[in-house]
Amino acid sequence: MTGTISRVVIAGGGTAGWMTAAALSRFLVPTGVTVELVESEQIGTVGVGEATIPGIIDFNRMLGIDEADFIAATKGTFKLGIEFVDWDRIGSRYLHPFGDYGFDLEGVPFHHYWLRDRFRGSDQPLAAYSMCCQAAKAGKFMRPVSDPQSPVSQMRHAYHFDAGLYARYLRDYAEKRGVTRVEGRIKTVEQSARNGTLTALELDDGRRIKGDLFVDCTGFRALLIGETLGVDYDDWRAYLPCDRAIAVPCEKIDAAAPYTRATARGAGWQWRIPLQHRTGNGYVYSSAFMGDDEAEAALLANLDAATLGPTNKLRFTPGRRRSVWEKNCVAIGLSAGFLEPLESTSIHLIQEGVSKLLALFPRDGISQREVARYNSIIGNAYDYVRDFLILHYNATARDDKPFWDYVRTMDVPDSLTETVELFAENGRFFAHKSDLFSITSWVAVMVGQGILPRGYDVVADSITEQDLTATLASMRQTYAQAASKMPPHQAFVDHLVKTASQKSQAHAR
Ligand code: FAD
Repeated sequence: MTGTISRVVIAGGGTAGWMTAAALSRFLVPTGVTVELVESEQIGTVGVGEATIPGIIDFNRMLGIDEADFIAATKGTFKLGIEFVDWDRIGSRYLHPFGDYGFDLEGVPFHHYWLRDRFRGSDQPLAAYSMCCQAAKAGKFMRPVSDPQSPVSQMRHAYHFDAGLYARYLRDYAEKRGVTRVEGRIKTVEQSARNGTLTALELDDGRRIKGDLFVDCTGFRALLIGETLGVDYDDWRAYLPCDRAIAVPCEKIDAAAPYTRATARGAGWQWRIPLQHRTGNGYVYSSAFMGDDEAEAALLANLDAATLGPTNKLRFTPGRRRSVWEKNCVAIGLSAGFLEPLESTSIHLIQEGVSKLLALFPRDGISQREVARYNSIIGNAYDYVRDFLILHYNATARDDKPFWDYVRTMDVPDSLTETVELFAENGRFFAHKSDLFSITSWVAVMVGQGILPRGYDVVADSITEQDLTATLASMRQTYAQAASKMPPHQAFVDHLVKTASQKSQAHAR
């Protein structure tokens, strides 16, 4: 145990820094803990990170953030899943939805009934049994309802938003609740000569920001956890070879789609993220298989409309820090690890880092047992996301480029092989406790990438042929009808933004 922790210093003010500051301002500042955040406008932030997964709703709820206000302030839209184009083979397309597939019957996951139906010759896609897929396909959106009998209860959503506006929004939130922002460039990180713990950040102009606990949110540079404390980083490029990205916004020309699109390309993939005022685009690629100029040209040749600014070139090493809590320093955000943006998991992993820090906050001193638990929880979270991402690359029939030959034939972690083989036999899947992705996600991607089980759960045979036919037809019809009655996504967003603006005008009067 160390001494009492009453001063927290956050180094860095990107999405990670301000998410951490917002949460600490809500829960710890009222208890007497002081929180200071140091950031440098001159250095800036990574400037990307615009798609999320549903856990963000819990984070916003935890902070008491109003959804309409949030969507208006961040130019956000709603996201029901990710459409994967050309991943299994060129011309293939599937949606990885949030929410469930169908309704489980007799305690057996729905996809076993879908498999039984396929074995007797049906070609209905899994998407026909997903509320989110049906709404996304129709460009519709509404929030879930609480009645579990309604198919709309299965709607689950996340957001797309402007990363800069999101950090700004959280900054306002945190500053209003007592977080002190310090503008300045960190020159050195001071350590105790006795035991190496961090004691202060020294800025370029000589100011010293002292603290008891330091949160490293300095992005890829990892100034505290990496450069100062020397915690190693595991490089996962052998499994996830994409290590560069080029991002560029373009004009918005169509109604915003309620999903992200990820299109497989020659040496990686391209994202398309619809916001209220623009479309975010980027090409994530492997430098071992493609040069920067070629990637930039491929990105610019595949945009919906004119660009709105210069391209932003980024380099990264997919992987994670061996331990994210070391001495009195906790790394959150890109300093802790980065797994490439394919399933929009980074902001969620920040959220996980922040919420577990709150759960284990060492007010009365740092306990090594708690540190070990924090490291294992966060480490496992990264490991399971890694396996899920590898699946997208490895389960492919593509053989048109050296990049796809590599990922199709590379060695993958045993944990992934076990999951895939179990599913391929009889459609069985058992989620691990630390796995961020549910059975819906794994089934969506395994089936979408061409893994069709050779059998299914015997209990799915317990209903008669006629009942199966009638139940499946009724489910399909229910989802399609519910989607047809929803408002268009763009109209939903427009209405929400208008309501938020009227509310804030009324508030100002
Ligand atoms: P940064 O944004 O880099 O912030 C670092 C902060 O540290 C800045 O404020 C900087 O000024 C400060 N700093 C650094 N050094 C110093 C110093 N010496 N002195 C003072 N201040 C300093 N995530 C998602 O969830 N969804 C996505 O769709 C998504 N897409 C992505 C696409 C790409 C190509 C990449 C690379 C990432 C993507 N991410 C995505 C990840 C997401 O961008 C990050 O998780 C998120 O932005 C958090 O970054 P950060 O705050 O850790 O780092």
